[in-house]
Amino acid sequence: MSTGNGKLLELRGVSQAYGRGERRFTAVEKVNLSLNAGEYVALLGPSGCGKSTLLRIISGLQPPTAGQVLYRGQPLQGVNPHAAIVFQTFALFPWLTVQENVEVALKARGIPTTLRSPRAVDLLDRVGLDGFESAYPRELSGGMRQKVGFARAMAVEPELLCLDEPFSALDVLSAESLRGELLELWTGGSIPTQAILMVTHNIDEAVFMADRILVMDKGPGRVVAEVKVDLPHPRDRKSAAFATVSDRVYAILAGQTEAESVELGVAPGEPGRTRALPDVDVNDLAGLLEWLDGLPGNRADIYRLTDDLKVDSSHLLLLIEAAELLGFAHVATGDITLTPLGETFAEASILGRKAIFAARLRRVPLFKWLLALLKASPRQQLSHAVVQAALELEFLQGEAERQVEIAIQWGRYGEILAYDDTGGMFYLELAVAPGV
Ligand code: ADP
Ligand code: MG
Repeated sequence: MSTGNGKLLELRGVSQAYGRGERRFTAVEKVNLSLNAGEYVALLGPSGCGKSTLLRIISGLQPPTAGQVLYRGQPLQGVNPHAAIVFQTFALFPWLTVQENVEVALKARGIPTTLRSPRAVDLLDRVGLDGFESAYPRELSGGMRQKVGFARAMAVEPELLCLDEPFSALDVLSAESLRGELLELWTGGSIPTQAILMVTHNIDEAVFMADRILVMDKGPGRVVAEVKVDLPHPRDRKSAAFATVSDRVYAILAGQTEAESVELGVAPGEPGRTRALPDVDVNDLAGLLEWLDGLPGNRADIYRLTDDLKVDSSHLLLLIEAAELLGFAHVATGDITLTPLGETFAEASILGRKAIFAARLRRVPLFKWLLALLKASPRQQLSHAVVQAALELEFLQGEAERQVEIAIQWGRYGEILAYDDTGGMFYLELAVAPGV
């Protein structure tokens, strides 16, 4: 990682309004933020909270409505010559080869012709595109095109590299390999970049890559919390330390205010009440969250929801209970409101949803207990009968049986445990999908 010191960038009370007249609204409100040399910072938040807006302001592509942007202590005027942005999908020139696409950026920087070619080849080599210099963009996979985008951004040797959801349009494997390559460039100090600011709505990605995570919320867009990630690279997603940091981020996004044992109940066998899992289908829960996400303020009157969603009220109450248990929504004075985590879930891809769901399940005491039990069992498997018998110490017989069924369904959705119907056995789901 490039060592440098001092403050590279500072935002002071930055606000951005869009629209005119009645349509005018505040997209970003009074954001203070600073970025030091040597830092990799992630901006995490649901869509529409103003992440891209902030990146454009920081790179000088648009001036804020109010507030100050300082770069190395000086007010930023016009486009920031020290910053480069990589977007979700990079617009490459289809009629130019891969190498020519990178050379264009070098030309724009005033690099003489004779130097452009070796420089471009070197950059392509560094992002792992050795041998593809003369290919055209259409011949490349999405992941490879994004690498060309990185090479082009790096060609200007930016002090500040801004990344706007750079991995979110890629398939799981390409995204993961590109993350690894970027981290290698960054931690190896082989690029002159002094700081990276990465926008993402992927919690795992933020914890995996960044030194500091700024959590944003919308309505209006603002920074609500900061989490330091003090873990050495390469980071192990399965380590306890990684889980601890992720949990903190999840808790912030879930707006958790009470102690975990109060919010979530206790594990079976411990003193106190074990909260039963509400008997709902995860897809129905997703439906409720999507519905709320489409409403102004992500909020609804519960009484009116029964009509709007055409579900009976007892089913709705179970859905709401599940949403609360998992930190996706809050209920107060007859209204249900999505938490930022609920918004993130509603707007995530299927894989993203599974990852969020799994992370939350691991904190639900009944699941924690079940997973610990499985881990401690010979061959990490347990029979249905054993699990049910254990749960019958907490719940009435019929309820215990139902709890086992819900645990199977939820565990399968989150891919944290597997269940074999024929043999009636629970297994630990060992394959952990990275970074979705
Ligand atoms: P994010 O990147 O977090 O999804 P954006 O910065 O793209 O958020 O958008 C924040 C809010 O501002 C959204 O409500 C979006 O619709 C609105 N917005 C963004 N750009 C413009 C624009 N140029 N004109 C009007 N509204 C905009
Ligand atoms: Mg955006």
